[in-house]
Parts: sequence; structure tokens; C-alpha cells
Amino acid sequence: MSGVVVVGAGIAGVRAAESLRTSGYLGDITLIGDEAPIYRPSISKEALTEGSQGTYPMPMKQGGPAFNWRLGSTVHQLDLSAQALTYQDSAGDFTQLEFDGLVVASGMRPRRLPVAGPEKGRYVLRTLAQAQDLAHQLQPGTRLTIVGSGFIGCEVAAAARARGCAVTVISAASVPLASAVGVTIGQIVTQRHITEGVHFALERSVREYRGDSAIREVVLDDGQVIGSDLVLEAVGSQPNVEWLEGQGLDTADGVLADGQLRAVGTSAAVLMCGDLARHPNALFGSQARRVEHWTAAADTGAYAGRAMVRLLESGAIDLPDFAVVPSFWSDQYDLQIQSFGFPHLATEQQVIELNADGSCIIECSDSQGLVAAIGINRTPELARYRKSFSSRYESTGLLSEDAQPH
Ligand SMILES: Cc1cc2nc3c(=O)[nH]c(=O)nc-3n(C[C@H](O)[C@H](O)[C@H](O)COP(=O)(O)OP(=O)(O)OC[C@H]3O[C@@H](n4cnc5c(N)ncnc54)[C@H](O)[C@@H]3O)c2cc1C
Repeated sequence: MSGVVVVGAGIAGVRAAESLRTSGYLGDITLIGDEAPIYRPSISKEALTEGSQGTYPMPMKQGGPAFNWRLGSTVHQLDLSAQALTYQDSAGDFTQLEFDGLVVASGMRPRRLPVAGPEKGRYVLRTLAQAQDLAHQLQPGTRLTIVGSGFIGCEVAAAARARGCAVTVISAASVPLASAVGVTIGQIVTQRHITEGVHFALERSVREYRGDSAIREVVLDDGQVIGSDLVLEAVGSQPNVEWLEGQGLDTADGVLADGQLRAVGTSAAVLMCGDLARHPNALFGSQARRVEHWTAAADTGAYAGRAMVRLLESGAIDLPDFAVVPSFWSDQYDLQIQSFGFPHLATEQQVIELNADGSCIIECSDSQGLVAAIGINRTPELARYRKSFSSRYESTGLLSEDAQPH
């Protein structure tokens, strides 16, 4: 069978497949994924607060019979010169598949800490199965230690407090979340966690986990000992690129793609999308960056599908370069952090509004002007900033179709 093969059935892969169809592709579309499509943002939120029964399916624009689904299947090997790959299904059988075009959407997996100690009680969080397992353990009084104070660590801290757990967050940072959202918002959110009863050990790292058959204590670099029944390691992620190695692609950090999301280093029709893709965004210059946010994955997926149709039809992608305003959100308690743009590019932050309840709007700029607007509980006001970024690029109007569902 040829046609287009999409590897990874997360939001990027699914949106790519949908956009292939809506852009008029009539050939076979095969979606291979080792996991069923889920609404991943719920994994660190509702999937923990609502218990272990929910399934949180991904909202589909088009699904079912439009594609050949190969779920529960893992791609192990790629041969770009032969335009073929090999996957293993859930029964353990191997199948080789040829393709005219390949969309790579295999995403990331959690990084694990190289720390000695028992494995039992030690968690990471990305899949529904991991969330269901953790949710089952989050009982009133359970002592949960979270290593890492990024979005996932902080969201799980809020969810675990809602379940009545005793929560300690260990972080190398001095202000949780500050590297992603800036110090002002980092401090507002941290203060709220403290008010809700979360303990922090900041500018600290983990030396070892102790316990006989399961974790009982976490020992920090300064010798502090934290009694723990569970540990969640929320210390970032690493790209799922092993199956792409040896094919001439640049896998130094995800996979490098050009401004039209075409993989660099091959003449085959290979398009990149989602967390794994390192690519320029024309609104923010020529530097290639990876973005690990839901709307970015959806937007790059939708673009990759459209671009693939052009490439297979005419041998060229006659589309404007990818230029969509990046955005993300994070929900902790009743605080909704929302961002449009790239806050980490800012050299300056200006507080436009800051209220006693923590709601705020902050403008982030570089030497050329606004690079991001970020705030808490001010989503409609922040959304108006999107036009400011679009005007950085002459081909405007390319705004996310997958705006967050709030
Ligand atoms: C817990 C959590 C909470 C989040 N919350 C938010 C949020 O509130 N707001 C926000 O903006 N973003 C959030 N994000 C980020 C957002 O969910 C991701 O950016 C997005 O899901 C990335 O989509 P993707 O399709 O690129 O990758 P993924 O969703 O990871 O999908 C890739 C799929 O490919 C599969 N795969 C990998 N290798 C292979 C292979 N060899 N063969 C077959 N299949 C393979 C993977 O198992 C996976 O199912 C969150 C992420 C996590 C982990």
C-alpha cells in the first residue's frame, strides 16, 4: 500500500490526516500510533481530579473511516531511500508499508531522572494509562513529592491538593514557572500554591530515593529528607526520534524542518509537525524552534497536511511559510494562565494590569516590539493581542483553528 503515512496519533498527527482529506487528498491515509488519540491537556488536570475512569478522547474534526487506523502499533524502522517503514502491531506482528509521503508526528516522552532508589511509587505523566495509574494512588493524606515546577509539575500539585494529598514540589528554579511565564506570573502562581497548602523546596535537586520495596523518602542535595509515598518526575521531555535515526535527518533537538515544515536532509516527501518539529515561524524570524503546546501541535499538523497535498500534486509546496501565533494555557485551581506569542523571547516585560486576585496582563517585548502577551484570567483581553503578532508578517490571517476550548 502507498499513499500518505502519518506516524503518531496525537493531535499533530490527527490534524495532519484530517487536513490531508479536507485539502482534497484522495489516496490512502494510514495513521500509525502506539496510543489512541487523547485530549492530552486533561492528563494533568481532569484525569487526576476526576479519578481513574475517564478516557478524555481527542476532539476529532473528521475521523473513523476517512483513515486506515493502525493503533496499538509502533514504527521501529524507516528507510527513506525505499520510502518504506516497518511497524509492529499489538499482536507482535511486523508489517512493512510503502508510502508516497510521510508525516512525522511522534512527539515526546517524559525525561526520567538518573536517581538511584526503588522504582515502585515513581511516576512520570504523559499517557492516559499513566494518569489513570497515578489518579488511583492520589488518596487523601497520600504524600506526593513532585520533582519539577514547570506546567505539568504545578498542574499536578493543584490536582493532588484537590484530592487531599500532602504535596511537596522540589525545583532547581528559584521561582516556579518563571522560565516559561516570567517572574511576576511565576510568583503569583507560586503564592497561590502556598496558600493552597503546597510545600516548596526551591533551588534544590534530588540526591536519592529511599525505601525497601517502594519509595518512602526523597533525599535532597542539601541532605533534607522528605517523607513520600509517591514521586512524580516532571522534569521535561525527550523526543521520540529513535525510529528516524540514520536517514540523514537532523535529530539534534527533535527534527529540523524548513519554514514549510519539510524535513531537512531528505528529498523524500517528509513533513514534520507537533512537539517533535523544530522549525521557523515566519512571525518570529528564521530561527528554528520546537514548541511543546497543544495549539502549536494542532496548527503545525493542519499545515503539514495541506503542504503534503501540494507537494505530492506538484512537487513543490506553494504555500506561504508557516506563520501562526503560538499560544498556550495552563489551569491551576481557578487560575488560567494564557499566553499568545513567544514569552521566552522577551528582553523586557511590562505589567499592564495586576489585580489583588492575581488576574493580570503582561506585555513581553524584544528590540523589535511585542513578542508575547501573557496573563491570568484575562483570556479575551489577551486574545486581542494576536493581531499585533500577525502584523509582524505580511501574509496575515493565519490564526489558530484549534483555539483552546475555554
Ligand atoms: C500532561 C500534559 C499536559 C499538557 N497540558 C497542556 C496545556 O494545558 N496546554 C497546552 O497548550 N499544552 C499542554 N500540553 C502539551 C500538549 O499536550 C502537547 O504539546 C501536544 O499533545 C503534542 O502533540 P503531538 O501530537 O506533537 O505529540 P503527542 O501528543 O505526544 O503524540 C505523539 C504520539 O506518537 C506516538 N508515537 C511516538 N513514537 C511512535 C512510534 N515510533 N510509532 C508509533 N507511535 C509513536 C506517541 O505515543 C504519541 O501517542 C500538555 C502535555 C502534557 C504531557
